[in-house]
Amino acid sequence: MGRRSRKRYKSVSFKMRKPPTTFQCPTCGLMTLTISIDRDEGSALISCSNYKCGLRSSLVGIPKIYQEVDVYAKFLDKFAEGVVEVTYNKGVSDDVEE
Ligand SMILES: [Zn+2]
Repeated sequence: MGRRSRKRYKSVSFKMRKPPTTFQCPTCGLMTLTISIDRDEGSALISCSNYKCGLRSSLVGIPKIYQEVDVYAKFLDKFAEGVVEVTYNKGVSDDVEE
């Protein structure tokens, strides 16, 4: 009577991993693309930290639920279609020889 032998199920704690915020740049192919979302503005800034590439872009109309990875996917779509404005802000002076 009154058996209390129920084994506690070992709960596997699922650590909330921080979603990635750096992605592969479609221009230079390095994992240097950073996405920062301004949730108040509903916009996102996309920039490549590879100074030889310097890709800069921004997206507007970002839904609040979007994570960086969602913005990245949206950006890649638009980039492939050529409907997003992209600038290249190569930070270093032009007379640096390769
Ligand atoms: Zn790049």
